[in-house]
Amino acid sequence: MLSIAFGQSKYYVDNLSENIKRGIRQKLRNGVWPGWAPLGYLNDKNLRTILPDPAKAPLVKKVFDLYATGNYPIAQVRNMINGLGLMGKKNKTLTTSNYQHILKNHIYYGILKYKGDTYEGTHPPLISKKTYDRCQEVMLSKSKSQTPGLKPFVYRGMFRCGECGCCITMEFKKGRSYMHCSKRKVPCSQRFSRETDIELQLREEIKGVALCSTWASEIIAYLEKEKSESAQAGSIVAKELQDSLEPLASKLDALLDLALNGRLTQDEYTLKKAELIGEKKAIQEKLEVCRKKDYDRFTPVIDFFAEASHVGELAEKGKPEEIRDFVKKTGSNFRLRDKKIAFEYKNHWRILHNFLCRPAGKKEKNAETPNWWRRRESHPGPSTARRNRYRLSPVIVSSGT
Ligand SMILES: [Zn+2]
Repeated sequence: MLSIAFGQSKYYVDNLSENIKRGIRQKLRNGVWPGWAPLGYLNDKNLRTILPDPAKAPLVKKVFDLYATGNYPIAQVRNMINGLGLMGKKNKTLTTSNYQHILKNHIYYGILKYKGDTYEGTHPPLISKKTYDRCQEVMLSKSKSQTPGLKPFVYRGMFRCGECGCCITMEFKKGRSYMHCSKRKVPCSQRFSRETDIELQLREEIKGVALCSTWASEIIAYLEKEKSESAQAGSIVAKELQDSLEPLASKLDALLDLALNGRLTQDEYTLKKAELIGEKKAIQEKLEVCRKKDYDRFTPVIDFFAEASHVGELAEKGKPEEIRDFVKKTGSNFRLRDKKIAFEYKNHWRILHNFLCRPAGKKEKNAETPNWWRRRESHPGPSTARRNRYRLSPVIVSSGT
């Protein structure tokens, strides 16, 4: 009995849902918007269509007219129109995204878009298609113009304030990006720095780990030679190890024969076999280490010198994002104080930096020390004085020597 009742109600619901869908499709084909009227229109129950809202329609039209000029960002249009008293449903204040939604809605020039399909509406349009298209162009140009010209906030989340330790935040003002202390914890006297100034300082700073390419290629050649010699030596060892595996295999075979012929007891066989397998395993492990070691030992060092030899070029021609990524990878503890940056290099980069940026006097004491940075006309290295100009805190100097 129940199942019949459920079956009937399901049939009723399915039928109803199909009827509603059919009704919506029919309305759309007739050019009538089937849902709630968008802002600026009202649902007319008698005519079963939407009609311009006398109070709001002129303001919605104004939104398009203002934005189409291209002189106002969307947030400003919002402030102006909200100021004129345009409100959303249930008298809610309209947000910027509400305005974006309005500006993208085809219904205002008479077109109905429903689930990907387009229908020609019969309701009175508030604006022309030309105005609508113009608004889309403005929106596109505004979103595009931010990408290539501005390069917004390259150093977001990277620096801390050298005075109070708070995060350095970014701000865009009058066409420029600025960085400043967020001053969240304690009063702080630090002022704004231009992002472009920080970029220049970083370019100078990384020259402190820029290795002359001539010298780098000499050392890389030396390391490659060492690597191949070591690989050869390694391969000799590896060959010996490999060779010592063969007798073990024959020994295992012979052992099995002895066991089969009854010359060994089961216990003797098991014991001897475990011994031989253990020996084989130990040799295989040594072989693995031997093969891996030579590769692992030299490769990172060679990669490091190769990278260091390109830093000079990076400092001169690299994109700000590339320079940022390099310093983030090689350094830590980035600080900004009195418009000057400071940080410490990590690991082998610190050793290289310490060596290249020693005070001049120390270098001369040791006549045997090679001149790591040989100056070239096309790409001269930075003078210590030039580099020091950007080195603000004694921390980096002390860690650097
Ligand atoms: Zn601060």
